[in-house]
Amino acid sequence: MQTNLGEAIKQTPAGREADAILRSCIHCGFCNAACPTYRLLGDERDGPRGRIYLIKQALEGEKVGAATQLHLDRCLDCRACETICPSGVRYGRLADIGRGLIEQQVARPWRDRLRRRVLRLLLPHPGRFAALLRLAQLVRPLLPGAMGAKIPPRRPGRKWPAASHARRMLILGGCVQPAMAPSIDAAAARVLDRLGISLIRAERSGCCGALSHHLSAPAEAKAFMRRNIDAWWPHIEAGAEALVMTASGCGSMVKQYGDALIHDSRYADKAARVSALTRDIGEVLTREDLQSLACRSTEKIAFHAPCSLQHGQRLGGLVEGLLRRLGFTLTPVVDDSFCCGAAGTYSILQPTLSGRLLADKLAALTAGEPALIATANIGCLVHLQSASELPVLHWIELLDTDRERETA
Ligand code: SF4
Ligand code: SF4
Repeated sequence: MQTNLGEAIKQTPAGREADAILRSCIHCGFCNAACPTYRLLGDERDGPRGRIYLIKQALEGEKVGAATQLHLDRCLDCRACETICPSGVRYGRLADIGRGLIEQQVARPWRDRLRRRVLRLLLPHPGRFAALLRLAQLVRPLLPGAMGAKIPPRRPGRKWPAASHARRMLILGGCVQPAMAPSIDAAAARVLDRLGISLIRAERSGCCGALSHHLSAPAEAKAFMRRNIDAWWPHIEAGAEALVMTASGCGSMVKQYGDALIHDSRYADKAARVSALTRDIGEVLTREDLQSLACRSTEKIAFHAPCSLQHGQRLGGLVEGLLRRLGFTLTPVVDDSFCCGAAGTYSILQPTLSGRLLADKLAALTAGEPALIATANIGCLVHLQSASELPVLHWIELLDTDRERETA
């Protein structure tokens, strides 16, 4: 693609990066077939190729307005377009740069600004979010069905084993997951304990920064990243082998810390090291001897692969292969590369499109008549559970023998 970016923007690192990404696009349009919003809306501007043109126009100094912003807001950031692109176009990075620019030029209506501000004030802060969630769970029985279904019921926390092994790995403190499903990290800790690895939660690590990043607040996102790096660094220097991610959305973000902080002279090297050490829990398990984890369950499971796992981290098929290797029976799922509509705060900010994607995804997941649905990201888990009669779990919980005893 030929470009003609303004001189001022071409002098910036982001401008140069965007220019190179735009030039790598060959207009073939293969990406439109993989795009959930293009499939739903059929409008070129709601597909990746059209969005790339819109971003190009903004970078070239053409006037942009609310319509441009709307088409970019409808993008799920699922990055399915990157997986299919034959030219290696880094759409996600281009969208980040384009959104940042458009955010400066187009004022959002006050309601939209308020909603985004409230989300940023609540979701990345575990204490505030946990208090609000507890309150919502208390009033849940009084709410109408559809509204009540949006509030996840309490999931029990489970015992975390004592750190007794020489092999140690770190886990992200997180933001919404510890309040919504504390059982997930506890299950990961117990499974790793059985493999001779202690999982450590570093004090003061928290939100990975993805929520702020996707709500066009890059400075806030970087502050979360630096805080996590500071919390983890003493443990990394003491020999922690890896940073284990049990939410694929967070894993995708932490793997990008190195790129996000590349121009930060104090943190660039540490951020690159943190990203290099980051592993999804599935990546950790595939490198271990799993004989002690073999499963005896005969239940059929439908696995939903989050976009952040299969497109963001390019780990498509990893968890499915692992579960089959451990003896689980997985049902076939059509269109498994498509997003479920959770996509961070998308289900709140774009509820209509999100609801349509959710209905399609649940139809695909339940077609093989599974006994339960498993996934790898808390956002997808809660979103799917809001409309599913089947239990929805993180797959690591299936490997946790304590859960087996509780449900037997
Ligand atoms: S598939 Fe890749 S090269 Fe083709 S239009 Fe889409 S982004 Fe451009
Ligand atoms: S990130 Fe997802 S929704 Fe956005 S353009 Fe790419 S495929 Fe479409």
